Amino acid sequence: MNLVAPNLVAPITRQYTPPYDVEAFRRDFPILATPVHGRAFLDSAASAQKPVQVIDAVRRCYEAEYANIHRGVYELSALATRNFEAARETVRGFINAAHSSEIIFVRGGTEGVNLVAASYGAKFVGEGDEIIVTYLEHHSNIVPWQLLAERVGAKLRVVPIDDRGDLIMEEYEKLLNPRTKMVAVTHASNALGTIPPVKQIIDMAHAHGAHVLVDGAQGAAHLKVDVQAMDCDFYVFSGHKVYGPSGMGALYGKKALLEVMPPWQGGGDMIESVTFEKTTYAPLPNKFEAGTPHISGASGMAAAIDYVTKIGLDNIAAHETALLAEATARVKEIPGVRIFGEARHKAAILSFLIDGTHPHDVGTIFDHEGVAVRAGHHCAQPVMDRFEIPGTVRASFALYNTMSDVDALIDAIGKVKEIFN
Ligand code: PMP
Repeated sequence: MNLVAPNLVAPITRQYTPPYDVEAFRRDFPILATPVHGRAFLDSAASAQKPVQVIDAVRRCYEAEYANIHRGVYELSALATRNFEAARETVRGFINAAHSSEIIFVRGGTEGVNLVAASYGAKFVGEGDEIIVTYLEHHSNIVPWQLLAERVGAKLRVVPIDDRGDLIMEEYEKLLNPRTKMVAVTHASNALGTIPPVKQIIDMAHAHGAHVLVDGAQGAAHLKVDVQAMDCDFYVFSGHKVYGPSGMGALYGKKALLEVMPPWQGGGDMIESVTFEKTTYAPLPNKFEAGTPHISGASGMAAAIDYVTKIGLDNIAAHETALLAEATARVKEIPGVRIFGEARHKAAILSFLIDGTHPHDVGTIFDHEGVAVRAGHHCAQPVMDRFEIPGTVRASFALYNTMSDVDALIDAIGKVKEIFN
């Protein structure tokens, strides 16, 4: 689903009816009922809160279904293995991969990108080759490529953005050439909210023989993902941003690529046979999963995926877009507040600065007002450099946020202005 540009939508507080019963789903999140956490949690882009269904799945794993996987001959281990593999199948369905063997469990988006940079890089990227990233990327989709480029003598090329935060596609086109091996692009920017035209980016890269990794850390919880329709070669996301556990995530890769890529870590579970002379590797996905994985994390992430699927990603996106539209329109009415990121298609992220203040001071005052936001460069320093600012204040909306949270945000901005004036 493409989200509507929020700046084109009028404030809608009074007549708004959410596409699902937000208050009922809020009650699934125990932490939201705890007063110490304040009035409004607006930092789900950093990490989302967890519904009781996820907490219960993790608890059930440890209480009744826990043993190491893929090894034991006893029933409890077989049960744990079945659950782990069922979670893989849940992830496959969530992003519509063709085979569950294309789903590699990793610690999160960061590890997924590092895996691809290390393994794909070892196989396909050499001296003089080029890797394209964009100005929108999180550090975790820049630094692994930089490390690879330094190691093999490849070059990093960067797609610029315009003042609204949209990628300049003409410049992207110019960067593509026969030396381009990889294009690494975000599905949604965590700093500005921009949703780039990933399908077009992928098609253009493929036309030049390059592969594409999509960083779905901010995409998977808010946009319906279909890796086959998108035709990306790799997709990564983190469980904790999809209301699941931290330390757990998934990498999707096309089978034909994963099969020819070398392992990136050695250890138990990723081998077929080991001698001191030669080791042969396990088939996919185990080849890329050395060691004991995050067993309870897989159950928790699968429960989280079931949870958002039950509400419907389209419903969640529609609700978040309504909150963003309302917040954007109301913030724009406040003199001396500057919004960063007004891309044509946006995820529910509102980055702004209040004249004469530093984002960290704003964040602290917001905290006293019971409003949790992120303040700083959001691990996206190049975006901040592009706008020549040290950072922003970032409010991000999730499935459990309400129009009252928008009110709290607006009140908190009012408080900052009161203090600084
Ligand atoms: N990419 C983007 C766009 C992100 O927002 C984040 C997390 N802030 C990451 C990658 C990294 O995710 P993680 O820290 O879960 O590995």
